[in-house]
Amino acid sequence: MARYTDASCRICRREGVKLYLKGVRCDTDKCSFNRRAYAPGQHGQARKKATPYSMQLREKQKVRRMYGMLERQFRLFYERANRMKGPTGDNLLRLLETRLDSVTYNAGFGVSRAESRQLVRHGHINVNGQRVTIPSYIVRVGDVIEVRERSAKLQRVIDAGNFAEQKRTVRWLEVDRAKFKATVSALPERDDFDQILPGSEDGDRRGIRDELIVELYSK
Ligand code: SF4
Repeated sequence: MARYTDASCRICRREGVKLYLKGVRCDTDKCSFNRRAYAPGQHGQARKKATPYSMQLREKQKVRRMYGMLERQFRLFYERANRMKGPTGDNLLRLLETRLDSVTYNAGFGVSRAESRQLVRHGHINVNGQRVTIPSYIVRVGDVIEVRERSAKLQRVIDAGNFAEQKRTVRWLEVDRAKFKATVSALPERDDFDQILPGSEDGDRRGIRDELIVELYSK
């Protein structure tokens, strides 16, 4: 399966916001964005005029890259969201958040979405007692997601659990950290989407402007 394999920190610098793609490192002084908060490349520090199109494109790229998806798959998710009832932006974010790799991340079984995706791909995650190895699998209300018994002894899963203790919890997941188990108690709603991008230390929240993505794809 195709995926982005270049340096993750370049993505945050390109999008001008911390996307927390590397887990523990993102909260340390080693974070590249803290040291060089400008776009990568020779012209990274050049002043650029933002146009409506560039803002729409950057928002779409930010969200797509945050979830580790390539353009084709992201577009398919958008089309699926567009066919569903309700606001397309909400549907899109709900679909992205209920992907199995996102749920694994939100439950604290992996320190980042990339690591959570690998846990799924490598068969460490069960859904309702069955092994599922498809990161884009969409979970439903009532589904039980758990780390397989042997996999729960992996040091990186234990470390991820300790790391997650200090991080936010999503209210639509009931997580039993001792049992490495999470139950989907509801589907994420608008308030939950505003919390997807964690705020900075001074408390500001950086939400996702899904309306820009919808405008871009509606052209
Ligand atoms: Fe790299 Fe994480 Fe910092 Fe982004 S937030 S620049 S992924 S260390």
